[in-house]
Amino acid sequence: MTISPPETDGSVQLRGVTKLFGSQTAVDHIDLDVHSGEFISLLGPSGCGKTTLLRMIAGFEHPDAGDILVGGASVLNTPPFKRPVNTVFQSYALFPHMTVAENVAYGLRQKRVPRAEIAGRVRDALDMARMGGFADRSPQKLSGGQQQRVALARALVNRPRVLLLDEPMSALDRKLREEMQIELKLLQRQLGITFVFVTHDQQEALSMSDRIVVMQGGAVQQVGSTESVYLSPANAFVAGFIGKQNFLDATVQQDGVLLAADGPVGSAAGRQDAHAGDRVRVAVRAEAVTVVAERPETNAVRGTLAGISFLGDVIQYVVVTAAGVELLSRQAPGQAAHLSTGQDVWCGWEETEVHVFPADDAGTSPSASGTGAEAA
Ligand code: ATP
Repeated sequence: MTISPPETDGSVQLRGVTKLFGSQTAVDHIDLDVHSGEFISLLGPSGCGKTTLLRMIAGFEHPDAGDILVGGASVLNTPPFKRPVNTVFQSYALFPHMTVAENVAYGLRQKRVPRAEIAGRVRDALDMARMGGFADRSPQKLSGGQQQRVALARALVNRPRVLLLDEPMSALDRKLREEMQIELKLLQRQLGITFVFVTHDQQEALSMSDRIVVMQGGAVQQVGSTESVYLSPANAFVAGFIGKQNFLDATVQQDGVLLAADGPVGSAAGRQDAHAGDRVRVAVRAEAVTVVAERPETNAVRGTLAGISFLGDVIQYVVVTAAGVELLSRQAPGQAAHLSTGQDVWCGWEETEVHVFPADDAGTSPSASGTGAEAA
């Protein structure tokens, strides 16, 4: 297999990109710089505008305002098939009456690429997608995962500078999906092509991306490395969307204590954005919460252990506090205390695990029980 990195710059710039469908703003003034050769994911809940944004980069939708540059040049007036980008769709959309090789060759034939060149490029693309042995097979006789690889080969054969992937693994079962995530990331590194990947699955985005763009309501909520969106969420929406999060409503006291219905849950000391009297939302990740029988020396609230679930790599506890707030805790099995449902317990967490957001922070609303864990 011969792989040569793309010769030209695969950067993508979005400048004030906006898309309306009737009176609805699907994408709202998005500015974004995608670096050449990076793996970036657009992550957000259903309807947040991810696919619309991807389709505008591909050229299948035209923005109502703004500009899109690929490799430093505007592509707004370039039709989709002439843009230096290719898309792998959620539905593989392979031609059933053609062999695998014919499916992969189709685009090159349309572009009247010489026959001898087509044969070599199809072979290379199928090898890259690890489908070299299936060239003469009908797509109907392939598994879902294999069809997905053919769709990938069909996009790679065009040697795009930018590959756009719209939830390409949503039809695969979990195990296959995890295998493909690793392979896709390795392939992207090897090829040096820019990947713009759409997903609503935070785990998928975290496992593959160099950077993540978290979207909500057509707007970007945060752009950052996987670590930064996870460890330093910009707002309550991002905090609630990535990972399992507990939210507690609290008020900042004169002495800086963050007072919730169940007592103190953290401190505002050193936080520029919290002042005495402010209503705030305190966020603590489920994996930062320990559940123990004796009061710990950390921030802690008292409750009753309402549920224990063994999830394989973690044990999940659900604790209902005296004020009726439901708290989630996730602990590695080796670290979890031996506890029983119905028992009185303490939920504790270190101050460094506390994130504080304004009470009216946009984008998320706690459930009646007070936990935002359902958003993850
Ligand atoms: P999903 O993960 O469900 O695919 P998404 O984040 O990709 O969601 P989009 O498909 O981009 O979201 O849709 C953004 C908004 O624009 C949604 O409210 C959707 O209903 C609306 N929308 C998308 N395409 C059209 C269209 N062709 N006509 C009208 N409204 C549309």
